[in-house]
Amino acid sequence: MPLLYQPHIFKPHPAVRAGVTLRSVSGSDPFGNNMSLTVGDDEPRVWRNRERAAAALGFAQMATQRQVHGSNCRIVAEGYAPAESDALMTDQPGWLLAVSIADCIPVLLFARQRKVVAAIHSGWRGSQQNIAGTAVAQMMQGYGVAPEEVVAYIGPAASQCCYEVGSDVALQFPKQHSRPLGKGKFLFDNKGVVVEQLLAAGIASHQIELDPRCTICDPNFHSYRRDGSRSGRMFGVIGMVE
Ligand SMILES: [Zn+2]
Repeated sequence: MPLLYQPHIFKPHPAVRAGVTLRSVSGSDPFGNNMSLTVGDDEPRVWRNRERAAAALGFAQMATQRQVHGSNCRIVAEGYAPAESDALMTDQPGWLLAVSIADCIPVLLFARQRKVVAAIHSGWRGSQQNIAGTAVAQMMQGYGVAPEEVVAYIGPAASQCCYEVGSDVALQFPKQHSRPLGKGKFLFDNKGVVVEQLLAAGIASHQIELDPRCTICDPNFHSYRRDGSRSGRMFGVIGMVE
């Protein structure tokens, strides 16, 4: 059984395959079904985890990137090699785009008519730079996509139940996304920020699947907040098959 959640919102579109890998909670291994090569996990095992996730969706390989909490979105096509970026986009079938996450949000997009997919990594820094809105704009400019045709999935991430931040973070966003705890601490709703950004980009609310799950308090996910340096990473992935 692959440790993979497949969003409902893309199900009416069989050419699109998308998912978020889950943490394996069997045993005491903190790196269960980890997708990252840079957290101290066994490298061959990580490659096997990646291959299993890709194969479960009908792909032979994934396009990854070196995430830097920026707002750069790269196009994936023949000759693609990973570089620094936080979003990937393609109109070519056969590529499974991957973003690596532990508490940051994986945002997956599909334009139904123009057939373009995107995978976006939006931690609070990415959200502060509106990387989701930037990616939608890039879909419109680069491929002639209309926002009305875009279907979106906002995946599991650090959620407002647990995501404590200081005023340095909270004050960079509209007030309604932070619940004050006193003493300069807030519970931050990063998903709410991204929902607003997608709505502002012209995507209708019924075209957005918002995953309510919190990576910090749900053990089925890796969480850097919860487990620190002993935490693995999940992949949020989307691609089109031929
Ligand atoms: Zn929580």
